[in-house]
Amino acid sequence: MFDKGNTAAAAAAESAAVSTLALRFEQVKSLLQKEFGDAAFRTWIQPIESTGFSNNALELSVPTRFIRDWVKSHYADRIRSLWHQHFGPIARVDIVIAAKKAPTSGEAKPAPQHTVTAFERPAVANENAAENVSSPLDARYTFQNYVTAPSNELAYAAARRVAEGDGAPNPLFLQGGVGLGKTHLMHAAAQAIRAKSPERKVAYLSAEKFMYQFVRALRSKETISFKEQFRNVDVLMIDDVQFICGKESTQEEFFHTFNALIDQGKQIVVSADKAPSEMEGIGERLRSRLGMGLVATINPTSYELRLSILQSKCALMKREMPKDVLEFLASKIASNVRELEGALNRLIAHADLAGRTITVESAADLLQDLLRAGARRVTVEDIQRKVAEHYNIRLSDMHSPRRARPLARPRQVAMYLSKQLTEHSLPEIGRKFGGRDHTTIIHGVRKIEELCQADRAMKDDIETLKRVIAG
Ligand code: ADP
Ligand code: MG
Repeated sequence: MFDKGNTAAAAAAESAAVSTLALRFEQVKSLLQKEFGDAAFRTWIQPIESTGFSNNALELSVPTRFIRDWVKSHYADRIRSLWHQHFGPIARVDIVIAAKKAPTSGEAKPAPQHTVTAFERPAVANENAAENVSSPLDARYTFQNYVTAPSNELAYAAARRVAEGDGAPNPLFLQGGVGLGKTHLMHAAAQAIRAKSPERKVAYLSAEKFMYQFVRALRSKETISFKEQFRNVDVLMIDDVQFICGKESTQEEFFHTFNALIDQGKQIVVSADKAPSEMEGIGERLRSRLGMGLVATINPTSYELRLSILQSKCALMKREMPKDVLEFLASKIASNVRELEGALNRLIAHADLAGRTITVESAADLLQDLLRAGARRVTVEDIQRKVAEHYNIRLSDMHSPRRARPLARPRQVAMYLSKQLTEHSLPEIGRKFGGRDHTTIIHGVRKIEELCQADRAMKDDIETLKRVIAG
């Protein structure tokens, strides 16, 4: 009898412990959400579950290896310190992978019978289907040649995972502005797969080419073989999917191909200049399917990344270029990497022809047209003026030493925007804010970054100001 009671009490205690653990971990999660923002929360933090706490180790589980690796390198330390701060001693955070059932979409029915037959038929014509539909790949676009920075590391890591073919996000949606390396990463993943697992059939093509082939198949009444070609691949990569916005029948066809592949557990990678949620002229079903996996954003480059890309390109081409010339390019050509490369190539070609090394002066001369395009660049003064107007403070408050919050916050916003939108160094920015130290600027920039993560209104303010400043 006692035994029974004890067992019941033990079970009750156990279940209480479990729910305390779950509750505590929920609190940690909501702190992480405040700290890292909603997007990061949905992608990485929400899927984490607490499964136990013993020997001072918190055990967590996540659905895929990719999420585990990312959480481990980006959030585990923070989880540990939040736990420590709120709930006491903790030595480690262990993360295990607990595969959940794949989320079944509303429309996930088994593939129609005839399609299955088509997949299974060892048709000779299908043997090279992937290669047939695939566009040629650029041999220079490899992972090795891709320079990483915080702005692109998620996209890079996800593309690598696709190449390894193990627990990769699916679909992987690479989002980023022109010339930031979306195509490069797709080619890199496709080539890595072909090198490592030749049996995996990879098709890479632009959405435009997809449409062109579809229309051609319609005309020549070969839509069945068109469908088979695509549905026979293991990895389908479609570049620049924004192209099919507003093109209904192509979208419809893509949607069916997409579903057929996903339902069979095949890998899909797409790229676009916008996130699925921002794409117009696209059906809701396709939009939600596109965003179902991971949307990895490639953010604009920083000065440091541009400089490393230039150094890496020089090394690849085995060319020397004076350091100050590279610095000059990195600071003046900020729009996209393609233009940056174009500028570098032009300088190299000129150095060859003229048989002289390039100087900053000759570079400025040779690149006049490109530099002029970038010259309408915003200045710190512009930013200060527009931010002051926005928050209804005086321009002179940007330079004043007063630290009252109603002045300090707008000033920090202006510091943050100056760092983001101009090429000035931190000490230069500091001088323009009444001779402040560069550490004050760093502090201001961080503060606004934090607020943007935590506070929707601040994020909106920043977006509005960026638009106003861009004119
Ligand atoms: P997107 O498809 O996003 O418009 P691309 O992939 O075509 O951009 O990139 C444009 C050029 O810039 C390519 O030559 C590419 O190799 C180069 N590039 C972009 N990002 C990087 C990077 N992080 N490291 C090295 N090269 C890059
Ligand atoms: Mg591209």
